[in-house]
Amino acid sequence: MTDPISPSPASPATADRAPLELPAAFGHAAAPTTPGRLAAPVTALPPEVTARTSALSLLARCDELAAYSTLPNGLIRRVYLTNEHRAVNALAATWMREAGMTTWQDAAGNQCGRLEGAVPGLPALVLGSHLDTVPSAGRYDGILGVLTAIAVVDRIHAAGIPLPFALEVVAFGDEEGTRFGRALLGSRALAGTFDPDWLDLTDENGVTLRDAYTTFGLDPQHLAAAARAPESLVGYLEAHIEQGPYLEEADRPLGIVSTIAGARRFAITVNGHAGHSGTPFDRRKDALAGASEIITMIESTARAAGLIATVGHLEVFPNAVNVIPGRVEFSLDLRAEFDEQRDRVWNDITSAITAICEARGLTFAVRQTHNAPAVACSPRLRGAISAGITATAGDPDPMLLLSRAGHDGMAVADVTDIAMLFIRCRGGVSHHPDEHVEAPDVSAATDAFELAVLSLAAATPLPTAPDSELR
Ligand SMILES: [Zn+2]
Repeated sequence: MTDPISPSPASPATADRAPLELPAAFGHAAAPTTPGRLAAPVTALPPEVTARTSALSLLARCDELAAYSTLPNGLIRRVYLTNEHRAVNALAATWMREAGMTTWQDAAGNQCGRLEGAVPGLPALVLGSHLDTVPSAGRYDGILGVLTAIAVVDRIHAAGIPLPFALEVVAFGDEEGTRFGRALLGSRALAGTFDPDWLDLTDENGVTLRDAYTTFGLDPQHLAAAARAPESLVGYLEAHIEQGPYLEEADRPLGIVSTIAGARRFAITVNGHAGHSGTPFDRRKDALAGASEIITMIESTARAAGLIATVGHLEVFPNAVNVIPGRVEFSLDLRAEFDEQRDRVWNDITSAITAICEARGLTFAVRQTHNAPAVACSPRLRGAISAGITATAGDPDPMLLLSRAGHDGMAVADVTDIAMLFIRCRGGVSHHPDEHVEAPDVSAATDAFELAVLSLAAATPLPTAPDSELR
């Protein structure tokens, strides 16, 4: 792609800010790991900062966070508003303070940190990702993005570079939606789009989101305090593992997200009639046999339309070996690059479910649990990430990728511009214990992310005083 905001050291905005001249400010990281990476840093960092922002340190922190889990045997499950959430927030806050940030936990349980810019009170460039996980998760999805963000702030703080904006890191408490079945609760709160009706959502034990906030020590009546005003923000950048195979196939460590695919999720219930397993076929209303036909229909319909559909959760009632299933509840996650295409396929699926249920004497009910439109990344911020990748990974034309996975940026886009850096992951595997990243790729990502921030800074006039207290 083209680079709309290639940094220009000669621009009036940056002429008096030598530390932001490029490439002079580049290369605070440890030893070169990628061909084409820029050489010796101009601003030497203290050895402890170089050490704790190295790829090996970030990977060690991923391992440390992975220990906060509700599953045994090294499996990871860490969900919203739990003791594990509280513990990883505290750990992240420690690392944020070490990196020079002031820290707070916002009204929705997101862990935040802030490094002031050249003058206090400036609007903030937010770097972030999430610390919650799916069940049996990997240790990098979301987590690595938070740690990369902290490392970038650490380096910029240690180098004493005055930025024309504040830098904030947000570690979102809920992105995956594992506990309450609704994704992006943390980032929706930050964007000011949290729907108070969601407080009645319940987890698998019947605990409401409202009660979970209270137990966590937060006031569910004051969630709106987590919302950020658009004028308090410069933009949002997120580094994340790719969750797809394309960077690996192209033999590139890093890429740029073009668009985050829109996703809709549904809870579908198929009702039949429970009965003894001796009942003849022509007298049965088998909800599981019907649900099975529906699930394979969903797969073939989505395949034919070229989009992605997943049934990842299914419960059978009464779930006994000698009883015909009377009710089945399952989830559907449907995502596509274009919302119109996705909605058209959903209409086809509901028509087919109706036909299948009629033929089998079953009934069904559908409840939408999530609906996020596709989100395009900002050309301005994409350009900064592109500049970062080009300068550090030596990739003159970084790869553009559609994100088929949802991310916090989808919610944050309601309040400010967003862009994302993708990091190659082995086999494109995520949401699984086999999730894996290579240290040189993490190193390249941290360098590129740092350079993206400095590139944005170089394109932004250095203010003399803030307009107001904006935070
Ligand atoms: Zn994620």
